[in-house]
Amino acid sequence: MLRVLSPSSAQVESGAPSVPFTRLDFADPELMQELLAAVRHLAQRGAFTLGEEVELFERELAAFCQTEHAVGVSSGTEALALALRALEVGPGDEVILPTNSFIATAEAVSAVGATPLLVDVDPHTHLIDAGIVAQAMTPRVRCVIPVHLFGATVDLDPILALAREHGVHVLEDACQAHGARCNGGTAGGIGAIGCLSFYPTKNLGGWGDGGAVLTSDPELAQRVRLLRAHGEQPRYRHRIVGTTARLDAIQAAVLRRKLARLAGWNRQRRALAAELRERLCEIEPASAERAIEPQAAAPGGDHVHHLFVVRCRERDRLRAHLASDQIASAVHYPTPIHLTEAYAGLGLGRGSLPVAEGHAELICSLPLFPGMRQDEVDHVVASIERFAKGRGGRQR
Ligand SMILES: *Cc1c(COP(=O)(O)O)cnc(C)c1O
Repeated sequence: MLRVLSPSSAQVESGAPSVPFTRLDFADPELMQELLAAVRHLAQRGAFTLGEEVELFERELAAFCQTEHAVGVSSGTEALALALRALEVGPGDEVILPTNSFIATAEAVSAVGATPLLVDVDPHTHLIDAGIVAQAMTPRVRCVIPVHLFGATVDLDPILALAREHGVHVLEDACQAHGARCNGGTAGGIGAIGCLSFYPTKNLGGWGDGGAVLTSDPELAQRVRLLRAHGEQPRYRHRIVGTTARLDAIQAAVLRRKLARLAGWNRQRRALAAELRERLCEIEPASAERAIEPQAAAPGGDHVHHLFVVRCRERDRLRAHLASDQIASAVHYPTPIHLTEAYAGLGLGRGSLPVAEGHAELICSLPLFPGMRQDEVDHVVASIERFAKGRGGRQR
C-alpha cells in the first residue's frame, strides 16, 4: 500500500535531488534506534496486547489532544466504527459526511448498518461547513462526521450548534489532523467523540495499523473500551457483544516515542507549507490552465498539512512534468466516494456533488514531510515554476 517512499534522495544528472512523496522512520537513524529498542523491550517481555505501554500511550495522547480519554484501537476505520457503535448509530440512521474523504469514513458508517449521506464541500477549503450540513439535514440523521481533510480544520462551532439544535451527534474524523488546533481545542477532541488513524504515513504513524477514539465522556470511553475487546471486563465476563480491535502494544510503544516529537513535526509541516504556498503564489502563470492554486485555509482554523494539495487545470501534465524532474506526487482522492463502485448503490450519479467531482479531476498533492530539505523545497518550486511559465509538461 505504501508507494513512493524512497528512503534516499538520489541525485539525478542535473544535480537536483529526487524528492520522495514522504519519508518514513528509517530515514532518521536516531529515531529508528529508539523505536527498535522500545519494540525489543516489549518483545522480550512478551507484552503484545494492551497493558502498560498502551495505557501510557492513551494517557499521553489524551493530554496531547486535550481530552479526558483516548482509547487505542486497531485502525482509524475501526475507531470510526466503534465510535458510531458507542453512539448507538445503526440501521435506519443516516450519517452526514463529505464525499471527498478517504473511503474509510463512509465504510465505518456502512459497517454499523447506517446509511452514509454524502455531501459536497466548499470549493476553496475542500471542507464541509455548517451551511452544507444544514441543507442535508433530514429527520433520519443521527450523526455528522466533519473530516479535517489534509490536516485543515473544519470550523466546528457552527456545526456543533446546528447539531445540538437537531439533536444529532458530531463525530470528528481527525485521521489526517493529529494535533491541529481549532475552536479552542485540538482536532478530534472538540465534538462528543473523535477518531485518529496511525497508518504509517499519517502525521503520527505507527509500524502497521492503529487508531484511537478520543472523548471526554467517560461512558462513551468505557463503551469503546468494551467494544474493542469482546465486551470483556473483567476477564471472561462479556458484558456486551464486542470485537477484536485493540491497539497492539508494539504500535503503542512506537507511537509513544513519536508522539513526543509530533508537535515539532507539525511545526515543520506548517513552516514548509507556508514557504511553499508563498513561493507558489508568487509565480505568474503563462495561462490560467497552468495556474497552481493551493488549498485555502479555513478562516480561523489550523492546518497541520498532512498533505499539501494544489489545484491545476492541467493537473495530469503537471504531474508528468514533476515526475520528469524526479518529484513524486499523488492524488487524494481520484474518485469521490459517491462515484466509487463500492457506493454506486447510493444512486448518486456524476454531477450530483459537483465541487468534489471537479476537485477530483484537478487536485494533486505535492511532497511535504518533516525533514524535507531546503534543496528539495527549492527543486519543487523551480520545477513548478518552469511548468507554470509554460516551459515544461508539453505532450511529447
Ligand atoms: C486514514 C484515514 C482513515 C482510516 O484510517 P485507517 O487507519 O487507514 O483505517 C479514515 N479517515 C480519513 C480521513 C483518513 O485519512
